[in-house]
Amino acid sequence: MIDSRRIVDDKSSEVRLDPSRSEEFADEGRGERSGVLYVTRPSLPPIDEFVELLRDIWDTKWLTNKGPYHEQFEEALAEYLGVKYVSLFANGTLALVTALQALRITGEVITTPYSFVATVHALHWNGITPVFCDIEPDTCNIDPEKIESLITPKTTAILPVHVYGTPCNVQEIEKIADIYGLKVIYDACHAFGVTIEGETILNFGDLSVLSFHATKVFTTFEGGAIVSHDEKMKRRIDFLKNFGFANEVTVVGPGINAKMSEFQAAIGLLQLKYIDDAIEKRGELAGLYYRNLSELEGIRMLEEKAGVRNNHQYFPVFIERDVFGRSRDDVYNEFRKNNIMVRRYFYPLISQFPTYKGLPSAVPGNLPVAERITKEVLCLPLYSELGRDDINRICDILYRLKR
Ligand SMILES: *Cc1c(COP(=O)(O)O)cnc(C)c1O
Repeated sequence: MIDSRRIVDDKSSEVRLDPSRSEEFADEGRGERSGVLYVTRPSLPPIDEFVELLRDIWDTKWLTNKGPYHEQFEEALAEYLGVKYVSLFANGTLALVTALQALRITGEVITTPYSFVATVHALHWNGITPVFCDIEPDTCNIDPEKIESLITPKTTAILPVHVYGTPCNVQEIEKIADIYGLKVIYDACHAFGVTIEGETILNFGDLSVLSFHATKVFTTFEGGAIVSHDEKMKRRIDFLKNFGFANEVTVVGPGINAKMSEFQAAIGLLQLKYIDDAIEKRGELAGLYYRNLSELEGIRMLEEKAGVRNNHQYFPVFIERDVFGRSRDDVYNEFRKNNIMVRRYFYPLISQFPTYKGLPSAVPGNLPVAERITKEVLCLPLYSELGRDDINRICDILYRLKR
């Protein structure tokens, strides 16, 4: 058996693996390593409840392709989220790729450099040129004021991300999209269950994409979904995720295989029962971080916005070196020495990866806010089963490091 922990600990191979997530791949499904705190851990339902559903799947031998759990989960999820249509996917990346296909997006798309790399890979896989737009310092989301100047005759869409589950400035984005006739696809992979004044943020834009990866607040091991608002679009998406099949003998377009299996759908159905509790616990723990760290100079946290139900997908802090007296990487290394596996989400910027740094919009200096934030950010551990004493210990370390 390969010891993935060893691979991850080797700095040179961390670059070859997915650099921002190699550790979660190593940690997940391996049980606690005593004394080590990870940035996130999946919440899972009692295993007996899952085994019951597995027996059902064994009996029917219906493993995938619109099985009974798929149909139940799709309907239950739409209801839970407060959206009209959900199309389930094998993962969030395939959902992003398919969302762009569904809307027939081509040419250039304006997006953010401050996200998980899959956001921009999805454009690349569609032959679309990404155009990077700078972000707002207070939300880390795309800055609507900087979008307009990036629009060219080739621009067809905007692909913003609700980073850390903080809602984008959806009203301003919509205004620009309307004036210029652009589509809007939200990468909502961080934003499961996020609402403003009780209304889901998933109903903004033409489509929204979710991920149920093991690192996300709501997980089906791997998984994802596209939220759409009309039946015709839902049907098109469902054809596309199943090779383009409209029926047994009709292929309506060059689709892909991005279907969610019965196993994922079954766990998803169970997860729905527990997700509100999990989000509430995350909120309480985030509250403890806020209380502990509000007096610590040089540590900036995201502002909690009135009326927004955040899911606390991550707990980022921003270390202002001049005030705190230490660099982010200094702090990062100190935490690691203490077996606290903090992560730098998002560092580097997508526009700084070799694949994308040659693009005109990726030129150093062109994205000043994102370039600063990526050097300041550090995500602290946060998951529903994290102990309050653990958070106190993490905060104590930060206080000790302050110069
Ligand atoms: C997780 C994530 C993705 C990719 O989702 P997968 O399900 O892992 O394929 C895309 N964008 C963002 C912002 C994400 O956090």
